Amino acid sequence: MTARTVLIATSNPGKLRDFAGAAAAYAITIAGIPGFSSLPPVVEDGTTFEANARKKAEAYSLAAPGELVLADDSGLEIDALGGAPGIHSARYAAEEPHAAESNTDDEANNARVLRELGNVPHEDRAARFVCVIAVAKDGRTLQTFRGTAEGVILEAPRGQHGFGYDPLFYFPQIGKTFAELSAEEKAQYSHRGAAFRMFLSWYQQQA
Ligand code: IMP
Repeated sequence: MTARTVLIATSNPGKLRDFAGAAAAYAITIAGIPGFSSLPPVVEDGTTFEANARKKAEAYSLAAPGELVLADDSGLEIDALGGAPGIHSARYAAEEPHAAESNTDDEANNARVLRELGNVPHEDRAARFVCVIAVAKDGRTLQTFRGTAEGVILEAPRGQHGFGYDPLFYFPQIGKTFAELSAEEKAQYSHRGAAFRMFLSWYQQQA
């Protein structure tokens, strides 16, 4: 199979690294949409990960006519917080609805999670990352894919890699946080890696 390029609608370097890590094992090259930063931002005002992923993929696919464009919407659901921050993960410390790519500081978001969880004991700190990828072409969504990863929120951050809530997200299966993994390792276990592999099996059937 010759290497093919898939365009990703994000300027989040953490997400791009994750996608490249997930694609590393396949004959697929990941690239950002050319001129992405000058496109009008999409307001993420949907009430589900699916709705926001579709909205971003459809809008940004208009900037790359004839190409497959992927966008993801993702977040962290903490059981003890009734599923928060959920679709508000990117701006949990700031709270308002947001334009794609205008996130609050990762450190501020993590600090709020730790504050909200307070003294909740380890066994009650279950959480999952969710990632929904939408693939669109010329303004129309062709398919969506949902991946999850189940973990536990630690009492303090651990690890230097990754982005967002990774340093707080302990993955019991390997005894590490997501921030203690390389991009390739994270892709094996992460919600984004899982959703991306579902996309790949769909994609390979299209060719
Ligand atoms: P959005 O998908 O761009 O709306 O942003 C999702 C937000 O969820 C990110 O800004 C992070 O705060 C969080 N998030 C999503 N996926 C991950 C991940 O793989 N690691 C850590 N945080 C994540």
